[in-house]
Amino acid sequence: MSGRRPLVAGNWKMNGTRENLAEIEALKAGLGDSSCDVAICPPATLITEAVARTGGSQLMIGGQDCHAEANGAHTGDLAAEMIADAGGALVIVGHSERRADHGESDALVRAKAEAGWRAGLLVILCIGETEAEYRAGETLAVIDRQLAGSVPNGATPGNLVIAYEPVWAIGTGLTPSNDDIQASHAHIRQRLVARFGQGGVAIRVLYGGSVKPANAGEILPLPDVDGALVGGASLKAADFLAIVAAA
Ligand code: PEP
Repeated sequence: MSGRRPLVAGNWKMNGTRENLAEIEALKAGLGDSSCDVAICPPATLITEAVARTGGSQLMIGGQDCHAEANGAHTGDLAAEMIADAGGALVIVGHSERRADHGESDALVRAKAEAGWRAGLLVILCIGETEAEYRAGETLAVIDRQLAGSVPNGATPGNLVIAYEPVWAIGTGLTPSNDDIQASHAHIRQRLVARFGQGGVAIRVLYGGSVKPANAGEILPLPDVDGALVGGASLKAADFLAIVAAA
């Protein structure tokens, strides 16, 4: 992990109502003095209450997406400023489910990342190849294309985290081999250093895709893996705490 402080972030996706806030409270209680950064991105309806219940703890709360604009006629959308106003500290942009379900392009993801920065949020920017691209041996080319197209100028370790999430590993129980994960992360690191110099050395690169308590102990110690973005296993505090412990 080379001195980078690990981050374990949970993405609840479209799961959770007020009763699930008990999991966030259990998470807060179980964290103790963890030596890594920990975040949960619940549905937008729960951000305000999740922030209220985690006040004074190291558990950060964030959004799962934001619009590129600060306000305006965009029915159903959420501005980064609204996430910040609700007490959120971070926002995920470019998740593969947004790229696939909503046709989000690299250019749009880049604009959303800039919106997150405008609102003072830490941005977790997701990249990763589809199964067809993986089978065609295009993983590193996809990473290059998405990094070049999605990551704005001005990235620093304090405002950007990259989440490498092979699309075929999300929610499937499949993961790349440890060697493949390390190779992809080392490649991302090299590209970040080439573009951002010393800042690129310290920008964290998370792995995402079917991280569970059972495999976290193998994946998280890999040299260029600085934590995890966790979907399904973030819904239960006990599972998520086990992953945090592995980091
Ligand atoms: C995700 O959606 O970012 C994710 C990694 O999901 P899961 O952990 O369920 O594969």
